[in-house]
Amino acid sequence: MRVRRLLTASLGTLLLFGPTPAAQAAPPDPATHEAAVGSPRGPSDTDLPFGVGPAQRGRSADAPGRQPSQPEPSAKLAGKPRNDVIKDVPAELTDASIAYNLIPYHDIPPALRALQGSDRISVEVIGQSVLGRDLHLVVATAPMSDAQWKNWQQLSDLRFSDPHAAQAKLAAGGYDNWRTPLFINNNIHGNEWEGTDASLQVLQELAFSTDPAVVDMLNKHVVAFVVTNNPDGRVAATRANANGFDMNRDFITASQPEVRAVRAQLVRYSPLTMLDIHGYVSCTLIEPTTGPHGDNYEYDLYIRHALRNALAMERAVLATGETRASCANPDGSRRNDIPFRDRTQGWDDWPPIFTPMYSMYHGTIGHTIEIPLNPRGNLTVAERHERTRINTAVAVASIKGNLGYATEHRSELLANQLEWFRRGVDGESTRPIDDPLAISLARGDNVKTHLQDFARAYVIPAGTDQRSATSAARLVQFMLDNDLQVHRAWRPVKLGGTHYEAGSYVVDMRQAKRGLASALLEVGRDVTNDFNAMYDISAWSHGHLWGATVQRVGTDGTLDDKGLRLVTEARATGAVAPGKQANYGLAVDSVAGIQAVNRLLGDGVRVSRTADGTFVVPGDVSVVRPIAEEYGVEFVRLTPPQVRDATPVSKTRLGVAANGGEIFALRQMGFDPVSVTHTAFNNGTLSFADFDAFFVSTTAFNPLSLDATRSAAFHQWLADGGTVVGRGASGKQFNDRAGLLDVTIAAGRSDANGIVSVVNDPASPITGNALPTAFVDAPQYFTRIGDGVRVDQRLAAEGFFRAGHWGGQDAAAGHAVVVSGVAKGANVTLFGTEPLFRAHPEGLYPQVAAALWR
Ligand SMILES: [Zn+2]
Repeated sequence: MRVRRLLTASLGTLLLFGPTPAAQAAPPDPATHEAAVGSPRGPSDTDLPFGVGPAQRGRSADAPGRQPSQPEPSAKLAGKPRNDVIKDVPAELTDASIAYNLIPYHDIPPALRALQGSDRISVEVIGQSVLGRDLHLVVATAPMSDAQWKNWQQLSDLRFSDPHAAQAKLAAGGYDNWRTPLFINNNIHGNEWEGTDASLQVLQELAFSTDPAVVDMLNKHVVAFVVTNNPDGRVAATRANANGFDMNRDFITASQPEVRAVRAQLVRYSPLTMLDIHGYVSCTLIEPTTGPHGDNYEYDLYIRHALRNALAMERAVLATGETRASCANPDGSRRNDIPFRDRTQGWDDWPPIFTPMYSMYHGTIGHTIEIPLNPRGNLTVAERHERTRINTAVAVASIKGNLGYATEHRSELLANQLEWFRRGVDGESTRPIDDPLAISLARGDNVKTHLQDFARAYVIPAGTDQRSATSAARLVQFMLDNDLQVHRAWRPVKLGGTHYEAGSYVVDMRQAKRGLASALLEVGRDVTNDFNAMYDISAWSHGHLWGATVQRVGTDGTLDDKGLRLVTEARATGAVAPGKQANYGLAVDSVAGIQAVNRLLGDGVRVSRTADGTFVVPGDVSVVRPIAEEYGVEFVRLTPPQVRDATPVSKTRLGVAANGGEIFALRQMGFDPVSVTHTAFNNGTLSFADFDAFFVSTTAFNPLSLDATRSAAFHQWLADGGTVVGRGASGKQFNDRAGLLDVTIAAGRSDANGIVSVVNDPASPITGNALPTAFVDAPQYFTRIGDGVRVDQRLAAEGFFRAGHWGGQDAAAGHAVVVSGVAKGANVTLFGTEPLFRAHPEGLYPQVAAALWR
């Protein structure tokens, strides 16, 4: 098994670097604009898997298994943009952009084709939205030959693979002709439109202007624009995408396809600067931010250029003369809103859920820009159009201000990024802000940073039990998709004085983007006392909330790297107990396990469940083998007594009154949630007979609002053994209105959130095998437990709050956060935690599945 997994990894390397059969078979499309401009694309560029970024490519020559005789991989030209055929889409007269005098989505393809008339412009389709709309990346640069692109790519990769060598090359003039990548993301919030229109205006100039300054700029940069990161939201005038996700909260989780598409481009280019254009904040807001600043950034390097670039953009915005886009200083001069300079708290860069903060982990000077005038709401048409005109002009000015700054400070920006990566490979601690300008302009405590000593390595064991294998592979593949380097031990290794078994994954923190590895794997920090107010959440952790075991290895010492091989792909291969079996057992303690059960049930396979929660499947290898391989789960041998007591189960018919993130998470697990409301029951659209379980976390389903007939039906449904899972204050309210569990609840601060240490009841069917950590947001905890109610999980009595922001946290210590019981014949579970929060804490999902399966 172990050997086979290693072979899989090697095979991945070969596949990555060789042209794939599919790519070879693809006929050249004579209609491509690319053919017209004479730059045929490399055979496998289009098939380069997302997320296998420059760091892996740069280091691949060191990876065992790569033969020197292999052909020069065209993946080396990953940065060279394609010119795709941009197809028209049907006109939608209801596109919300039209009312704002802004470009509707259906007018974007012709506009992009017109830009393709310039040999400075390439347009790629980089992915699709939830509803299937294309996401476009436009890259502007002066034309380069393949040989020049090859040289460009080598210098690009050298930044991460060997920052020392890159620094030496920069000093010797070796980067003089290298074009620096810059990045502009637009319209991630669908109802903040104008970045798209502004970028198309700027691109028109970049494509066709003969101004020597523009030509010079195109010879110095590769400028990538995401035209709209949220086309579904643009059309529908929604902030969220069609899954109901705020994607500017999803970058560190990357649950959404639009986010993964843009993440792949950030990985591909590791740009020097990045703008994410939003609205609407009066004065025009330009980051850098207030504190607390994320612990894993090289913040002293970031602020040096972030502040000066912000000042350059402010000058450009003020130069538009649009007084509605700025505010007055006491002396009558005008300014924008630069939170680092102008605010004391509440606009922080702490969580890398935001696109620009995520990009900082790729060595990028990232900025959110908030254009000034909200065009929504009850306005005259003339005023609405005036606002979008000003907003577009402000966005154009900020883009041009950024491009100007990047042109003027090109080599300093590159030197800054190389220093960022050098500290990574050298394993240095972060440093305090030492820039006199930043120190003099910082308001309040915004100049403070918390110095971080990084681990020497992390070990993610993957050999012994199946949860560790599936969850470890999931986490490692996520790290690879984020351009991080991960190794695997092909024999037992000794790291920091400890022995680890063969098959363990090892994250050597001496790597260029180690800050991102730390942001993913560490638990974080309690920042309650740093600042009173935070903009959004203050904790996340893939290492502590995704289910894999992650072990920290010291801060110093050498690694036994002869026993390690670079990983290019991580996938749990699953297993089936050998020999002829009457039945197989499947223990579900990971998302993949839940998916496998729901798949078996959906396929009509006869499934039952033992008293200890193990699923029992008939002994048919042709059924279980493909499931084991697809989901990476393990089917084990069962003893006859285990099977004897098993009870049949069928696919849970699930009704939900929940938020978009929770519904998405339930779908991820393979459930088919149906949204329910009391109204839909009352008017006969829905019937209680069609449901086995309800998950309730909103007030959309109020049992007291059922009419007499439906109320009786609901109580009969409860008495017949229905299942109710309530989450948060609204779940508890549902419980009380239905007269279910006898418990009293207390609420933490509504803005409190974080990662908590919990104590699980080992005998609980819901939490018996749960992680020792959980996530809370607007935390709820139970202060009185009535008769017949089981405490499945409670907060640890001491030091439970591991990371995040929770004023008044002490009052919650030791209290129950998950309770369950049978009430009125129904199986009821209440969560005070947030096990499905924004589809992030995957390692907590099994608790919800177990509660639904009761
Ligand atoms: Zn926004």
